[in-house]
Amino acid sequence: MKVPFFDLAAQLEGIRDQIESSFGRVLGNSTFTMGKEVERFERAFASYCGAPYCVAVNSGTSALHLALLAHGIGEGDEVITQPNSFFATAEAISYTGATPVFADVEPDTWGIDAAKITPALTPRTKAILPVHLYGNAADLDAIKRVAKKRHLVVIEDAAQAHGTLYHGRKIGSFGNTACCSFYPGKVLGAYGEGGAVVTDNPRIAEKLRMLRDHGQKRKHEHIFIGYNYRMEQLQAAFLRVKLKRLNQWIQARRKHAMLYLRLLGDLEQFVRVPREPSSFRSNYYVYAIQCRAREQLVSYLASHGIGSQIHYPTPIHLQKAYRHLGYQKGDFPVAEKLAKETLSLPMYPELAESQIRYVADMIHAFYKNKYV
Ligand SMILES: *Cc1c(COP(=O)(O)O)cnc(C)c1O
Repeated sequence: MKVPFFDLAAQLEGIRDQIESSFGRVLGNSTFTMGKEVERFERAFASYCGAPYCVAVNSGTSALHLALLAHGIGEGDEVITQPNSFFATAEAISYTGATPVFADVEPDTWGIDAAKITPALTPRTKAILPVHLYGNAADLDAIKRVAKKRHLVVIEDAAQAHGTLYHGRKIGSFGNTACCSFYPGKVLGAYGEGGAVVTDNPRIAEKLRMLRDHGQKRKHEHIFIGYNYRMEQLQAAFLRVKLKRLNQWIQARRKHAMLYLRLLGDLEQFVRVPREPSSFRSNYYVYAIQCRAREQLVSYLASHGIGSQIHYPTPIHLQKAYRHLGYQKGDFPVAEKLAKETLSLPMYPELAESQIRYVADMIHAFYKNKYV
């Protein structure tokens, strides 16, 4: 049996007609960036998240960059974030001229550990940038308590957290500025690049709209130096089709996660499966296990037709690009251990139960051959 890590073709099959008709509609009206499709998507996504404002942009990285700028982060500032994330989280901080400062994460949720934020604070700290990693929610209550004491802004990296619930409410509805990505592989993905910022602050939303469009207030009136980070109409039209399916897709992912848990839960000696705390409901963007003999398991699974990936093999503080910050191996033991041990298993709505059973059987077989 073949179980690819990921199968976007299967997803397209269920929505092909609507995707093709939205393609035709956008080609027909000949406006390709911004415009009606983008506005409609912004309204729909704001409403989905339970946020008053949504500003659509051309990628999740752009969303992070502009959210930081809109909150006035720049040269000389420090922003606290976590070392176990996609590189763009820290990169966006660097774009503004500010410095990323890392704090270690919690071993159970993989999110930034609020207790580790306080020792990282300096007079230059302006913001905290938690990541809802793999679709798990970071502990926003604890993070906001630290932020409030020190008058810091909280900007959420919600690139992986479409539809994730924290204490029963969607990520994006907590009165912070939250940044989403619609990279094709994300839980809600475009057929190309896309991103969005959601916020409850009208002033920030206005600033974001100008920043993404050359600092223009209206045509030919440039108030400051901005960017061309506009969303394409086509992507907005595609995303509107897919947004209607999002809850259904998340439900399917959650069902798959429960099955993995049932089938792998007894391998405790070798494999640690994610167990949701009562505080959140993951969208299971990534189904990451912690496991022994990871590299060998990867080859074993591959030789049996099963795709897997490692998110993320090198924590950001140990990347060459951030050598100048002076971090060392051992600075963030939890994040470093996760980087060595986590493995992402196939997870997408269209997976069949038989495929998940096959993956679980092969993992059982691997550990049995190896250790018993
Ligand atoms: C995908 C991702 C981003 C960047 O989004 P793009 O749309 O690829 O630019 C940022 N942060 C995290 C955590 C991501 O997973």
